[in-house]
Amino acid sequence: MTQYPALHMIIDGEKVSGGGRRTFDVINPATGEPIGALPLAEAADLDRALEVAARGFRIWRKSTPQERAAVLQGAARLMLERADDMARIATLEEGKPFPEAKIELMMNVGLFNFYAGECFRLYGRELVRPEGQRSTVRYEPVGPVAAFAPWNFPLGNPGRKLGAPIAAGCSVIMKAAEETPASALGVLQCLLDAGLPKEVAQAVFGVPDEVSRHLLGSPVIRKLSFTGSTVVGKHLAKLAAEDMKRTTMELGGHGPVLVFDDVDVDQVLNTAVPGKYRNCGQVCVSPTRFIVQEDVFERFRDGFIERARAVKVGDGLEEGTQMGPMANARRPEAVDRLIGEARDKGAKLGTGGARIGNRGFFYQPSVLSEIPLEAQIMNEEPFGPVALINPFRGEDEMIAEANRLPYGLAAYAWTQDGKRQRRLAAEIESGMVGINSHMIGGADSPFGGVKWSGHGSEDGPEGVLACMVVKAVHEG
Ligand code: NAD
Repeated sequence: MTQYPALHMIIDGEKVSGGGRRTFDVINPATGEPIGALPLAEAADLDRALEVAARGFRIWRKSTPQERAAVLQGAARLMLERADDMARIATLEEGKPFPEAKIELMMNVGLFNFYAGECFRLYGRELVRPEGQRSTVRYEPVGPVAAFAPWNFPLGNPGRKLGAPIAAGCSVIMKAAEETPASALGVLQCLLDAGLPKEVAQAVFGVPDEVSRHLLGSPVIRKLSFTGSTVVGKHLAKLAAEDMKRTTMELGGHGPVLVFDDVDVDQVLNTAVPGKYRNCGQVCVSPTRFIVQEDVFERFRDGFIERARAVKVGDGLEEGTQMGPMANARRPEAVDRLIGEARDKGAKLGTGGARIGNRGFFYQPSVLSEIPLEAQIMNEEPFGPVALINPFRGEDEMIAEANRLPYGLAAYAWTQDGKRQRRLAAEIESGMVGINSHMIGGADSPFGGVKWSGHGSEDGPEGVLACMVVKAVHEG
């Protein structure tokens, strides 16, 4: 059985812990028990990491595409070799079922291999000029990156935060969530073991506000990459603006799902229900607001409730578990509050709406329907295992509801009508749209939002370009 590892930071390739530093208790969300003590950075640790990152950038900006690709491919191979251990550690600290953690790891493998190929495709261009003159446009790495990764994808978020800067030729200081440190350290260790120079990527942990103010306050850092809530994202974007640092902001969403009356309802439910309860709904692209055409509303709602009741909830390491606990003590409390407030405002609770047991952070798969639009849960990302299902008359009304909120990360639509599919693709304000599918990502595809869901992309060629600046050189 996988042991939960000893925890540390990685600064200049050195495992840093102890020395009277403050610590953070990492909790197994399936039991509520502490499983590790994480050292937190002091100001001196962050200063050291910054000085090393400046050196790391000077080394890595001169690396060849072959060197960068070899590191990324080597790390991908090591992740495959270590897959079972890494996935079990992710389940221990985040709670998600082991097979979900393993898929997450495989997505990192795919992303690192894709980025390895991108290293060779960072072309500039030559402009047409009269003979004797030359003008070229080239892409250069932006500089040292400060990257903040949240806890909901303990392996995948660090994979994105590390992979793109490394492919682009930047150095990076990553602060992954204190709640899921061992998974993040595992991903970084694969890169270091694959030959990444120790100065190029480092991992610190700390009091989030202390670390972000310190790193973003330094002129060494030239780019901020953040995944997390819109509230924190806006705060960090302001800090970054003080020094005009580049930003990639992957923030919250409130995924609308438009279900029209020309669909096979059972087929939609077979995709939508597992999609909703994946990782306990703690997914930024989670399908959340089900906007259902009135003729199929009751069948859809009742079918959802029936399937939600059948979801097997348990410890993510137990075979057959379909939904684990929520990741931390804050989440069941937040979901409980939002569901309670919606019910007070007249929403109907179809199933769920309560915690399970008093050990760990388990919550029932829940369904609310006929929810007034002014209920908080219809406006705030619930980030939990609750589906919100409301009836609507027709296409215009449904699109208006999809676009009602300031969020625009992922949206989904189910309809057989080809012309309508194209209208929806054009009209829905969202960074990603799934039509008759919940698969809205891929290593080669940009992942990111619009409006309050942020800006910039991760994954795809865009993910690497987001870590680069453009330079035009004109020779007379
Ligand atoms: P939170 O908003 O306090 O934290 C979200 C993430 O940001 C965490 O990883 C946290 O460590 C980090 N963070 C917080 N303050 C920071 C700071 N000053 N500097 C740098 N990083 C900071 O809340 P939470 O309770 O962890 O999560 C709640 C909400 O966050 C959810 O409801 C959801 O909306 C959002 N969230 C979004 C994603 C995503 O994938 N977009 C992931 C996790 C959480």
